[in-house]
Amino acid sequence: MKINTNYLDLTENYLFSDIAKKVSAYSQAHPEASIIRLGIGDVTKPLCTPVIDALNKAVKEMSDADSFRGYAPDKGYDFLRSAIVKGDFESRGCDIDPDEIFVSDGAKSDCGNIQEIFDKDNVIAVCDPVYPVYADTNIMAGRKITYLPCTAENGFVPDIPKEKVDIIYLCYPNNPTGGVITKAKLQEYVDYANKTGAVIIYDAAYEAYIKDDSIPHSIYECEGAGTAAIELHSFSKNAGFTGLRLGYAVVPKDLIREGTSLNKLWARRHATKYNGAPYIVQRAGEAVYSAAGKEAVSKQVGDYMDNAAFIRRELKSMGYEVYGGENAPYIWLKTPDNMTSWEFFDYLLDEANVVGTPGSGFGKCGEGFFRLTAFGSEEATREAIQRIKNI
Ligand SMILES: *Cc1c(COP(=O)(O)O)cnc(C)c1O
Repeated sequence: MKINTNYLDLTENYLFSDIAKKVSAYSQAHPEASIIRLGIGDVTKPLCTPVIDALNKAVKEMSDADSFRGYAPDKGYDFLRSAIVKGDFESRGCDIDPDEIFVSDGAKSDCGNIQEIFDKDNVIAVCDPVYPVYADTNIMAGRKITYLPCTAENGFVPDIPKEKVDIIYLCYPNNPTGGVITKAKLQEYVDYANKTGAVIIYDAAYEAYIKDDSIPHSIYECEGAGTAAIELHSFSKNAGFTGLRLGYAVVPKDLIREGTSLNKLWARRHATKYNGAPYIVQRAGEAVYSAAGKEAVSKQVGDYMDNAAFIRRELKSMGYEVYGGENAPYIWLKTPDNMTSWEFFDYLLDEANVVGTPGSGFGKCGEGFFRLTAFGSEEATREAIQRIKNI
């Protein structure tokens, strides 16, 4: 027997476990310190009432033989897929059919699994800095990765690759930089993919945070994206489903490569390896698109964005160079005095007992940057910023 040695090519340290180790060592040495975490990208607000009501109702249905549901349809329940099409696409003029929607247990699984329908010899392009899942899952499969630098100079949107690449992962609004992509720039990517036969995997996990009306929520707002891109969505960051688990992938029927429909390949993969998100969770997802659900979710997102605006404004007034936080829950700051990302991590932990995420953990181009998130409570966020001010 032989192991998959590609796993040995993964970088050994996992960013968030390194952070956890440092924080726990600090806590042991300073038991009196009250630490504020503005690091990990997890939400903190409880599920909204319309979601809880839908969950309760669905649980009740499951307790009765007449309304009990077993295995869900492969692609997800029609009630959810049609709510998604109406709520996320029709309203934006995107022509997406419910048959192109594949409900899943979250966008992380989808970004990790989608690469299975592609040959091992494809060249993969990811941004640097990057959400590690795109790169690591392709390294596990033994693929070659090209990193596209995202810097303050290019507004954290990479230039179109000069060498030929086959699959391009893009995530906007971006984790970790908080950057956004204009419709014109996204169109350039779509045109590139249509011209070269590349496929774009567009991670729209943070689209709910877009405030600026000119920023695209979906890649399908671009002309020709139906033959160029797969799009991934999540209920985690808008509706707080990080513990409940729900997402979906859009694989358009017109997305054909080498004469084969990628929609068919993904349908086959999905049906073979996945038995669907829980019925009660799909009902909870449907509630996110109800009038009451939309209102509650947009209030939660708005509260997080108030934190983002506060962090941004205060750090700027302290003289920090700050990016993001305007259409995304992430603030990406330049470390002062040429500190490395980890030096700044230690500095904030020691001096303010505030935990953030070192930018270098997301890639080479993240060195010298640091990520703070807007997912803390208003109180904790204000306290953290006050402590940074007091250093
Ligand atoms: C949080 C996040 C997701 C969402 O993952 P889920 O599995 O749906 O919770 C996807 N992509 C990015 C970039 C994220 O930060």
